Amino acid sequence: MSPPDCPILDPLGMTLDQFRLAAAGLGLGPHQALHAYRRIFRENRPATTAGRLWAQANPGPIVHALEEQTPEGPTVKFLQQVSGVQSGTLSTRPGFDTLTVESVLIPMIGRLGKRSYTLCLSSQVGCAMGCTFCETAQMGLIRSLTAAEIVAQWFAATHLLDHAEARDIRNLVFMGMGEPMDNLDAVLQAIRVLCDSNGPALGASNITISTVGRIDGIRRLAEFTRELGFHRLGLAISINAPNDHIRSQIMPINRSSPMAELRDALLAYPMRSGGKFCFEYVLIPGVNDGPEHARQLADYLAPFGKWTRDTLPLGVLNLIPYNPRHRSPWPAPTEESVESFLAHLVELGVYAKRRRTKGRQMMGACGQLGARHIRSRRVVEPTSDGAPIR
Ligand code: SAH
Repeated sequence: MSPPDCPILDPLGMTLDQFRLAAAGLGLGPHQALHAYRRIFRENRPATTAGRLWAQANPGPIVHALEEQTPEGPTVKFLQQVSGVQSGTLSTRPGFDTLTVESVLIPMIGRLGKRSYTLCLSSQVGCAMGCTFCETAQMGLIRSLTAAEIVAQWFAATHLLDHAEARDIRNLVFMGMGEPMDNLDAVLQAIRVLCDSNGPALGASNITISTVGRIDGIRRLAEFTRELGFHRLGLAISINAPNDHIRSQIMPINRSSPMAELRDALLAYPMRSGGKFCFEYVLIPGVNDGPEHARQLADYLAPFGKWTRDTLPLGVLNLIPYNPRHRSPWPAPTEESVESFLAHLVELGVYAKRRRTKGRQMMGACGQLGARHIRSRRVVEPTSDGAPIR
């Protein structure tokens, strides 16, 4: 093949095996492919043969990055450009020709005092699930991301963001924009790539998929975790309510997948021994924060086991103080109400922990991602410390 019509391979959406196959199609051998794959993922260096470029990563550029200081280090939210909507009604509307994906890097200090990061990934631009408390839901679903675009977020965080220090990205959570189970093929392919030992080489046990509780998706994920190497993948479920009545009001998915069915699907899930579901509960004042709600929630979680001095149950509850979205009808909960709800749950035998809020000022905290220019709202330009300028 002559250079002008020779395609340039982009490995971001491919496992090494798939990349090797594609390279073979260009007449390149398995060793060349292996070296190229490693170099691209580890050093962001393109692959050339006899002066001819044949493979390189092609992630969208970072168009905006915001930092907010936390006691554990800087939380960084970055926006990466992806191509727009190619077909359908949205493709003809202005503003949809290029899109941005939002990801957040969250620092943690480990037991030995070393800092590592959790990268919060998006699986879609926007979201179709319509949860009333979530910022992303307000923009609707614009489009799902490809596996390469999901991996590109890791690539950008690793190689494209300005580095004040080498970033040790230890954990990945699919808790950014979108519902991963609404785009599960691409999410699972991205996970295969992210875990490739010659690529990003992350451990499946360090990756968590968070879902609104799509039962079909939970069953498919169960199949995936039976594949070699993926049985330790983490699963988080956004419960957010103590009963069907409240859950159906704030999470439309509950009208078709009620809580009892969701629980049955989880109890049938092949959780690895010692593994745990993570139940997320966004505490919203006046909606789900009463003492009776703590009791109902504890009853709902009882089949996963109780927290006693000698045993840990099959589920841990992560209590997330509500981060007000734009035009939110609810305020953030008070410190006291969060602590008392948590204490009540613990008293009732729920293995419950509190998720610390990071990045709230720059709209980078849980449920606050959503590019506002797409929704034609007033864009508030943030300052470097994340505080909006008004
Ligand atoms: N669609 C997936 C992943 C994205 S949301 C899911 O629903 O799990 C990631 C987490 O952020 C979920 O647990 C969700 O309940 C939580 N969340 C959404 N909006 C929030 C808000 N305004 N404040 C705090 N947490 C929120």
